[in-house]
Amino acid sequence: MAQPFALDRFLPLLNSCCTLQDGVLVSSSAAEGTFEVLNPATQEVIARLANQTAADTEEAIDRAEAALPAWRAMPAKSRSALLKQWFALIQQHADDLALLMTLEQGKPVAEALGEVQYGASFIEWFAEEAKRAYGEVIPSPMSNRRLVTVRQGIGVVAAITPWNFPNAMITRKVAPALAAGCTIVLKPSEETPLSAIALLTLAREAGIPEEVFQLVMSTRAADIGDVMCHDSRVRKLTFTGSTPVGKLLMRQCADTVKKLGLELGGNAPFIVFDDADIDAAIKGLMLAKFRNAGQTCICANRVLVQDGIYDTFAERLAQAMDALTVGNGTEQGITTGPLINERAVAKVERLVNEAREAGAKVIRGGQRDSSGQGFYVPTLVTQATADMSLCREEIFGPVAPLIRFSTEEEAVAIANDTPFGLAAYFYSRDIGRAWRVGEALEYGMVGINEGGISNEVAPFGGVKESGLGREGSRHGLEEFMEIKYLCMGGV
Ligand code: ADP
Repeated sequence: MAQPFALDRFLPLLNSCCTLQDGVLVSSSAAEGTFEVLNPATQEVIARLANQTAADTEEAIDRAEAALPAWRAMPAKSRSALLKQWFALIQQHADDLALLMTLEQGKPVAEALGEVQYGASFIEWFAEEAKRAYGEVIPSPMSNRRLVTVRQGIGVVAAITPWNFPNAMITRKVAPALAAGCTIVLKPSEETPLSAIALLTLAREAGIPEEVFQLVMSTRAADIGDVMCHDSRVRKLTFTGSTPVGKLLMRQCADTVKKLGLELGGNAPFIVFDDADIDAAIKGLMLAKFRNAGQTCICANRVLVQDGIYDTFAERLAQAMDALTVGNGTEQGITTGPLINERAVAKVERLVNEAREAGAKVIRGGQRDSSGQGFYVPTLVTQATADMSLCREEIFGPVAPLIRFSTEEEAVAIANDTPFGLAAYFYSRDIGRAWRVGEALEYGMVGINEGGISNEVAPFGGVKESGLGREGSRHGLEEFMEIKYLCMGGV
């Protein structure tokens, strides 16, 4: 299927790196080989980019290190002004950024536009926070000494980001790093590098110096990760991606004792109690489960429904799911795009088949969608149990397994029985239960009667094997700073 528009409309956004040759975006810099970027809805090649190497990564770190003193010394207000300019340019190009994201990632354009706005919100927020990196004056226990703290940017930062939010996972790391006075080298996912190039182009247009924010684009993820982790000049590694890769990076960073920010996998429970507002719970679940075709780390992975409303809830959810329309995200009215690649579809297929074999009932869907190779029908599974692989592994697809429970204690026990602890959701109108369950859930984020919890002002992050640190909010800036204590004697 041909693109409904010519790719040359994106050249102004990609001119830091690409030209158009024979209808494909091609990066101009020479390197060892190239890699292809596919449109997951059509499997067409949309770009062919230089496949960068470990040596390129080292050179980028050299430049980031050299640029650090001047960037760090710049008044926070000046760095803030550059970030605001970047934010303004993203607003100006929001529609093209969204379309470009849909082409490489698959999510419907309206949703992509939502992500562009969400991503930009971190730049605006950290432009503001840059000016508020306060230290403190500590009342001294000695009359001749004065004790103060100052906060300083940690130094060169390395970042590795995933494909499911090709824009926002970048801005959520780059904006606070730059605001804090750090320089940053970013390796975006090889599946979605074009959104990263576009963000870089606009950052340069905004006046952010070239060496302060650099990209390394490559399929040689392990080689590049290795350099980033072992280089002692890199003082912080920030990563969003899978738990196994996060653990590997954590081990690799041990030798240089780097500060780590890790946003890893989740296994979000979505609990609906008998006393819930069912309409609100369905609405919340549709958002928490099906956005981005289920490919977010805070997507509801297991839906726990109390006995008394289980059958009604399943019926109502099946009806709500009829409103989902699968197809190419560039077309009008599509709510559910393709999964990112064949591996992702095969995983969803395996999990649903294993659940079926273990006794679960597939009420709706349960197979690939006829729209094309990467598509899967939004699926509802009932009679799921907590021990099924479908409820233990991250599905990352449009499948909702419903588990039946009878008591609050049982729901909390099932919800907490996982090594992950990123996001959880529950619906109840009982205020006592809202507090009890909110406190008992071992998760970094809990949506109470709400399915959309993420925004720039709130701390995003997990506990247990879901990660370390927080992104967004005022804590997101602290993650890129060190506290320095100054003790002044002889007063
Ligand atoms: P996903 O399953 O969501 O693709 P990954 O953890 O594999 O999650 O990928 C997230 C990011 O981590 C991507 O940018 C990917 O290229 C990168 N990555 C994958 N393997 C490694 C590795 N061994 N070292 C460093 N980065 C890696």
